This record gives sequence, structure tokens and C-alpha cells, in this order.
Amino acid sequence: MSKPTVALETLGCKVNQYESSHLLERLHQAGHPLVAFRERADIYLVNSCAVTARAGTQTRQLLHRAQRLNPRALIVVMGCDAQLEPDRFVSEALATHVLGTREKLDLIRWLETPADLQHPLVRVSDARYYDRLAPLPVNRMLGERTRAFLKIQDGCDAFCSYCVVPMTRGCGRSLPAAAVLEEFDRLVRAGYREVVLTGIHLGQWGRDLTPEDQLSRLLTALETGPGPARIRLSSLEPTEWNPALLAALAASERICPHFHVPLQSGDRDLLAAMGRPYAPELYLEIIGELHRIRPQATLGADVMVGFPGETADRFRATTELIERTPVNYLHVFPFSPRPGTAAARRPGRVTGQELKARAKALRELGERKRRQFHQQQLGRWVQVLVENRTADDWSQGTSENYLPVRVRAGTPPALGEIVQVRLESLTPRGFIGRIS
Ligand code: SF4
Repeated sequence: MSKPTVALETLGCKVNQYESSHLLERLHQAGHPLVAFRERADIYLVNSCAVTARAGTQTRQLLHRAQRLNPRALIVVMGCDAQLEPDRFVSEALATHVLGTREKLDLIRWLETPADLQHPLVRVSDARYYDRLAPLPVNRMLGERTRAFLKIQDGCDAFCSYCVVPMTRGCGRSLPAAAVLEEFDRLVRAGYREVVLTGIHLGQWGRDLTPEDQLSRLLTALETGPGPARIRLSSLEPTEWNPALLAALAASERICPHFHVPLQSGDRDLLAAMGRPYAPELYLEIIGELHRIRPQATLGADVMVGFPGETADRFRATTELIERTPVNYLHVFPFSPRPGTAAARRPGRVTGQELKARAKALRELGERKRRQFHQQQLGRWVQVLVENRTADDWSQGTSENYLPVRVRAGTPPALGEIVQVRLESLTPRGFIGRIS
């Protein structure tokens, strides 16, 4: 008898995507045919996110869609939002199975337990007691043929006042170095030429291990480890760019010059109210150092707008600081009060037109800095990882410093190949290049 069909949607961060890739591989191995979420399926899975209220709304929309597509289906909501507010999914009769961030990794087992919308199965354990991080082997990355993500860390101990992550994913836990090298090797053997090291709080990697370890040491081990793949780092906090990590970067031939360093605010008092353990001066220093070590690096920042207490002057401090940095793209997040966080109870929220105007001003600033940086890149030679080919024979890919590049060659490069490209012109869809 054929196994029930499965459809899955993933919201949120790269860590969630990595975990979904692992689950899909296990479902596939168990014989479940996989279908798109817009199709009729026997089982719908939503790997949810709790970082913003908007992500919660998207989760509910997907669950409603699943009910419309097949009222008899098993509908599973799992991950961060299920962990945060399991009772809401039950009282709203939105899912047959509600699984927390740990329980979702045992998905196949829970699917065997009968449940329905009126009598849902709820399995959510207390994230404060999550312990060791086990490897989650992945050979094929969801939606990615040439670039793989590798989760090496989970959870966070920082408790920024606006963030629910420590409540949904527990304290910081790291995959030991030997396991990281093994998973890296698995991805390289599967044909990936770029591996993005991800974690919820990547810079905390190693602190919980016995003996304690450091990200700089791991990067040094990967430098001579399985090849040939380049390494990209996901977001790292300003306080975590310590001298050892900067030295590992300076010595590296594999780490891509693309760094994302969250700023959140350029105002000292607001940073303190957010529970962010640095002053604006430290941010300037670190981003300046990254620019000095890798002058062609793409440098990104997360910025929060409308945090309670963000006066017009404090907002101006943020834009002025960004103007002074070599940061060349921004991710702008309007403040979203999350249940159970200290910031949700703080007075002085910025709302309505003012919030929209500030978010728009920041996005325009980010766009201007991105355009300036792209103009400076014209004429340079870059290494492009070829990711796909269009019907009209353009090969598309991403450079080591994360520029989107298209090339058309007599003999098109193979998918997954890294080619030397000169950046010749710039279009709204990225660079047009010429292969050497
Ligand atoms: S560092 Fe702060 S914002 Fe980032 S996951 Fe941890 S608590 Fe959340």
C-alpha cells in the first residue's frame, strides 16, 4: 500500500530550513511521496516561526489552506510558534498535531499517533531543559542544489528584551567539532560547493562544550578540512568578533567576504533597553575592522525600528551611525511585541504612520548604500558559484561576496562550478558578467 503524501512549508530562519531538509529526507526515506503545499496531500506540515507576529499570521493562513485542500488530512504545526503558544492552536482547532521544537524532530513517530482537529495531539516540552545537540544529517538541501546550510548551533542565552528565541529553542547548544567536520564532509561529497554555517547564535558556538571550544578554532579546522567548498558565515553579533575570530578570518582562503552583523539601534540607551551588550562605538570598530580585512566584503546589518522608547533623536542616531559605516545592505524589522518578553510591556511604542515612515527611511538608506557598493564592484573579477540556468541560456549564480551575477558563454559552465567572472554591467536583477 502506498504511503500517505506529505506537503511541507517552512517559515523563518535558515536553521528552520535546515531542520525541514532533514525531516523531508527522513519522510522520503520512509516512502512518503512529497507534494507541493498547494496540492491535495494526506499530511500537511508547517514548520513555524515565532520571531514576529506576522510569521504567526502566515502559519495560521497555511493551516487554514491545508484544511480547505483536504479536510481529512493530518495537519501538523511544529517548531517555534507551536512551542510558544500551543494552546492557541488547540483552541482555534487549527491542527491535528502540535509539536514543539524538540518534538518535531521525532515527527514520524508522532504521525503514527491518531489525532483530529477536535482531539489534537500536543507534544511540547519545556525548552529550558533541552540539552545536547545531536547531528541532523542532510544530503539534499531543500530548494538548494549548490549551496548547503549546516546547522552547528541551536538556542540562545542572550535574552534580548524583544526576542522569544530563548523561550522557543532553549539555551545555546553546539555540535562538537568532530560532528561538524563529518557533516561538512557529507555535504561536500553530496556535491555542494558552498556551505553556510548557521546557528541561532552562531558566535556562541563551542561555549557549552566540554572542553570549551571556540568558533575561531572550528574555522581553522575547516580551513584544511574536507574540500573543495567555500564557507559562508551567517549572522554574528558585534561582541563575538573577538581578536581570535578576526585573525582566523584574516588567514582564511575559504571564508566568503560576506558578513552580517546585527546592529538593531545606533542609540546607546536603546541598545541597553534591548539588552544588547555593546555600545555604538563597538559596532563601528568591528564593522571597520571587517572592512579593513576584507575591503570588498558585503556587509549587512539588522536594524529594528520602533522599539519602545525610540524617539526621533534616537532614530536619527541610528541612521547617522549607519551612514558612517561601510555597511552596504540593511534588513529592517519593525518592532513586533512578542508574548512573554520584557519589551512587550515597555511603554513608548512607535506605531502607525510614524513607524512606516521610519522603516521606509531606513530601507531607502540601505538601498542607497547597496547601489553605491554595487557601482564600486563594476570591473572587478569575482568567483561565481553557478546555481541555475535560464531557458534563454543565462547561467546565474552568486559571487563570494554575495553579488547576484548572470553570464552567457559559448560553453555554459556546469551547475555547481565556480567560475572567474568580470563584472561588466549592472541591471535591476544584478550584474552581467564575462567569464575569463
Ligand atoms: S542574540 Fe538576542 S535577538 Fe539573537 S536569538 Fe539571542 S536573544 Fe534573540
